[in-house]
Amino acid sequence: MGYNLTLMEESARTNFIRHQIDTDLTQKNTSTIKTRFPPEPNGYLHIGHAKSICLNFGLAQDYGGTCNLRFDDTNPEKEETTFIESIKADIRWLGFEWDEIHYSSDYFQTFYNCAIELIKKRLAYVCFLNTEEIRKYRGTLKQAGKNSPYRDTCIEDNLSLLAKMKDGKFSEGECVLRAKIDMSSPFMCLRDPTLYRIRFDKHHQTGNEWRIYPMYDFAHPISDAIEGISHSLCTLEFQDNRHLYDWILDNLDDFNQPNRPHQYEFSRLNLEYTVMSKRKLQQLVKENLVSGWDDPRMPTLSGLRRRGYTAASIRDFSERIGVSKVDATTDIAILESSIRDALNNSAARTMGVIDPIKVIIENYPFDQVETLYAPIHPQNELMGKRKIFFSREIYIDRADFTETMPNKKYKRLALNKEVRLRNAYVINATTFDTDFDGNITTVYATYDANTLGKNPADGRKVKGVIHFVEASHALQAEFRIYKPLFTLENPGKNDNFQQLINPKSLTITDGVVEPNMENAKPEVAYQFEREGYFCRDNQSGDKLVFNKTVGLRNTWNQ
Ligand code: ATP
Ligand code: MG
Repeated sequence: MGYNLTLMEESARTNFIRHQIDTDLTQKNTSTIKTRFPPEPNGYLHIGHAKSICLNFGLAQDYGGTCNLRFDDTNPEKEETTFIESIKADIRWLGFEWDEIHYSSDYFQTFYNCAIELIKKRLAYVCFLNTEEIRKYRGTLKQAGKNSPYRDTCIEDNLSLLAKMKDGKFSEGECVLRAKIDMSSPFMCLRDPTLYRIRFDKHHQTGNEWRIYPMYDFAHPISDAIEGISHSLCTLEFQDNRHLYDWILDNLDDFNQPNRPHQYEFSRLNLEYTVMSKRKLQQLVKENLVSGWDDPRMPTLSGLRRRGYTAASIRDFSERIGVSKVDATTDIAILESSIRDALNNSAARTMGVIDPIKVIIENYPFDQVETLYAPIHPQNELMGKRKIFFSREIYIDRADFTETMPNKKYKRLALNKEVRLRNAYVINATTFDTDFDGNITTVYATYDANTLGKNPADGRKVKGVIHFVEASHALQAEFRIYKPLFTLENPGKNDNFQQLINPKSLTITDGVVEPNMENAKPEVAYQFEREGYFCRDNQSGDKLVFNKTVGLRNTWNQ
């Protein structure tokens, strides 16, 4: 790439959160940096989460602090234990390890005690307005809200009403506990926000013990304070909610301490041509529009891993995009160049033909198979050599042959034109066969025996190079070639985004590969010469299936 990455990385590393931490350490507002990553276990992690993971765990590492994993499991209906396991596995795969693991549900009793404390301070009340009425009473950005008729219920009554809510004496939705703050606040979230609601669903950690569940805005600051988090980082849509975060901690005696946590917001990662929210990704899975959460077209960590992205490339991507408060959509080319840069130096080279046609080399002896040696990496001799074969019959890619040269710059095989076979000889096409539909089936060629690893002695210039696989040793392989899941840059904006799936997002072909690919391992990258980076699919058992990770060059703007 043309630009100076070191410089970009340097500037990306410094950000407003690091400045804040530096200030807090200098002014002794805090002595250790404690962060947390708080996923809701209602789906698999996506690359947006990776940004947050790299930020939270990365800061803890760089400042010698700690980072907790906290499952924000305050909503009993949507959460599943399989998600918990996949989230843990994904964080570890990314290369991070948490200091402590917690569940918000561990703190249910503390949340409840805090609610009682707020009631006793006349700062919370049980409200019987229904959802619609609450919304009406709230007012609008331009118009102040109205006080709930339940706002002045006495402390004793509120205490016993809350106890009844907890014991399941009211039905779902019959009442909620609300904070008593300010119905005319310019911040809507301060207009007596709900703290607790009734839910009869069974919770995956606490079973049927609780009939009331705290809202995120109530549970989050308290959980942070219990764990002694110093910097609570979240995405920009919670900017206004920071006032509520502060209000809650300011009004609870145990937590209103000088070193209590503070919330800082950064912009979320949005990526072109995909949707990012777990809810939308779940919809794609449920409606069978993709093969699962780990479909290689998904922006999930499991999907990217299956596609061939490495953990290091995703960490590198997170560094490159940096952390700011600017809301933007990230160019997919940045993600792709992270993986390309990661693989260029390390991926073993091999040859595979994605859409094969046979070439018969007529002046090559029958029954002869030659063993040749090709470098595993042309720039790194230490990686050694691999065995390849050559004989009278080989496969080349359909796209590498044409009857007549379309222009003088054409560098592949055409009739009466010479081309070099990568790692082997120069050949010249003489004629070809077609099927009834006119598709080329076989090309006939001659080879020049004196051109192995060198140019023809008589000074003929052979510029083009194409790849091939010798036919008798070729292994059948399936290639899965991916294009973006959506054709629109921002599909999530449309309500019917599922209908906008790119019909060309997956192309499957039957191709051939070199015999040494027989034992290729999933998640290990190969560069199929001239085609791109691929890795063996991790779900297809013994069958050879290769997922295209990324092409060799950025072809986005072409
Ligand atoms: P989603 O809408 O995908 O479910 P979420 O914010 O509800 O996202 P959580 O599981 O609650 O998902 O998120 C865990 C953490 O990851 C939060 O701190 C959240 O801010 C962060 N996060 C989620 N999505 C992104 C994103 N696109 N970019 C950066 N951080 C994100
Ligand atoms: Mg969420």
